[in-house]
Amino acid sequence: MEPESVDVAVVGAGFAGLYALHRLRGLGLRVQVMEAAGDIGGTWFHNRYPGARCDIESLQYSYSFDAELEQEWNWSERFATQPEILRYLHHVADRFDLRRDISLGTRVVAVAFDEAAGTWTVTTASGREMVATYVVMATGCLSAPQTPRIPGLEAFAGEVHHTADWPRGGVDLAGRRVGVIGTGSSGIQAIPELAEQAGELVVFQRTPHFSVPARNTPLTPEKTRYWKDHYQELRSLAREDTPTGVLYDFATFSAQAVDDRARDVEFEARWDKGGANFAYAFKDLTVDEVSNDYAAEFVRRKIREIVKDSAVAERLCPVDYPIFTKRICVDSEYYDTYNRPNVLLVDLRQEPLERVTEAGLRTSAQEYALDVLVLATGFDAITGALGRIDIRGVGGLRLKEKWAGGPRTYLGLMSAGFPNFFMITGPGSPSVLSNVVVAIEQHVDWIADCLLHLRSVGAQRLEPTVPAEDAWVAHVNALASATLFVRAASWYMGANIPGKPRVFMPYIGAADYRRRCREIAGTGYPGFAITVPGAPSGEAPPSPRQPA
Ligand code: FAD
Ligand code: NAP
Repeated sequence: MEPESVDVAVVGAGFAGLYALHRLRGLGLRVQVMEAAGDIGGTWFHNRYPGARCDIESLQYSYSFDAELEQEWNWSERFATQPEILRYLHHVADRFDLRRDISLGTRVVAVAFDEAAGTWTVTTASGREMVATYVVMATGCLSAPQTPRIPGLEAFAGEVHHTADWPRGGVDLAGRRVGVIGTGSSGIQAIPELAEQAGELVVFQRTPHFSVPARNTPLTPEKTRYWKDHYQELRSLAREDTPTGVLYDFATFSAQAVDDRARDVEFEARWDKGGANFAYAFKDLTVDEVSNDYAAEFVRRKIREIVKDSAVAERLCPVDYPIFTKRICVDSEYYDTYNRPNVLLVDLRQEPLERVTEAGLRTSAQEYALDVLVLATGFDAITGALGRIDIRGVGGLRLKEKWAGGPRTYLGLMSAGFPNFFMITGPGSPSVLSNVVVAIEQHVDWIADCLLHLRSVGAQRLEPTVPAEDAWVAHVNALASATLFVRAASWYMGANIPGKPRVFMPYIGAADYRRRCREIAGTGYPGFAITVPGAPSGEAPPSPRQPA
């Protein structure tokens, strides 16, 4: 049987895949989306753990591509819950009639370039094949859950649940002894809720994270009205004038430009307001060690104020990496949770984890009896989902091998040797260091403009040149090296995955990035080799139009 044939194969049906389908279909292209999960939603389908919600305000963490969609949707809270965000994505899928071109329960296992035909063959786990001119990987930066190899895990008699693979029907925790490994954003959101529901909760912490209060509240009609009335200008400001794609109050001066009192007043005001806005209290918090330490010390002071048992408070205080170099957590009553009588904090640095037993979890000090074990142990981030697919480019080159020393891309959108193969929020783009929805829309729009360009010049093939890619990788590394980010063993660096090369993967500076992408698209795609049948190969033909 002949394989199906489409113009564009999109892998993944989260925020990125859904918008890619809508936008590319709008160009008259035949698009097919393949999604491994049983339904759409991506992150918001998989991460159903109690307490899951966004940490960027919903009015900003949402699509901006359609004004009517913006006007008709009402967010109920400042930071929407997972079910509400999932409902939103379902609404989007229905509103734009997306489902008819999405194959659910369809895991892509291989993507291979056919040099002679100039097409890609996409193979699914069930053996279905699809031939596509273009491939768009919308597989997500935080979609490959990481389960650590803990000896004995398979022998545990109770239930084990990863936060990123939480059962659809929920988990009954009432009266049960629950253990949680992991205190990153997922753990920090889940722990207060787990403590409410469980009989006893034991938190196994290896490294404490810094967390700031969300101060989540219902959204007032006035605030919603204001945003709806000003969406266009606010979104534009966030996109064009911020390093994060989010409107925060960005300070313009150093933490060292003010005295101790003024500094504390500023930190305090932001702590009271809630959210990641705290991270922008001074302009140099991620680049200057002294300034950074002021912020870190402020948070440590808060932890000591909130947590009544001083020994527990000390264990919760991060001391060995700069604040903000791992994603700042945004919580609801996280530190207060340790004042509850049914919550125990176990410091795995003091008593290392030895194994999971049939009855629970054993550290070097003792065995903790558990009925349920929650793994809030994170993701093989940014490159993980791509790495789980056998991707082969020109000459059978495997992406995984090419990236053995760290990912190599041009603009985080494409990689040399993989023509017509696009990545949304790929390594080397702002992705997780920005509002990811904003980053997704920018990438999808860039790809759509690029395909229009190729069509208008009669081109069949586009890929980055090796020198352009090398220069981009060096540029991304140089930006990171000028900051404190490289000082933490974070998932941004691949440090949470044994054997993964330690390379800082995201691009720092979303607005600058956007300008560069626009400039490249507007000047005939320098750094890309564009092949037009009949024309000398390797030359980018002149751009007949400026992209939108
Ligand atoms: P995803 O939503 O991850 O979707 C990728 C899809 O691809 C998944 O459905 C997956 O099943 C599918 N897929 C992967 N591999 C294959 C394959 N081989 N074959 C077929 N399908 C495949 N970002 C923010 O900016 N703000 C936030 O507040 C925020 N909160 C977050 C909270 C949590 C709990 C997590 C885990 C992440 C959060 N993020 C946040 C990041 C979040 O991942 C992005 O905001 C966004 O949802 C990513 O959308 P996406 O479509 O790129 O990827
Ligand atoms: P994470 O930040 O990588 O945290 C994983 C946690 O598991 C860490 O505390 C880690 O400890 C621990 N861990 C991993 N392996 C372990 C082992 N073998 N033994 C003991 N502890 C172990 O992952 P995450 O919390 O899922 O968050 C990932 C990202 O997803 C976030 O940074 C954020 O971008 C996004 N997210 C956002 C939200 C939100 O608020 N909207 C919520 C969830 C996730 P070590 O630090 O010692 O390795």
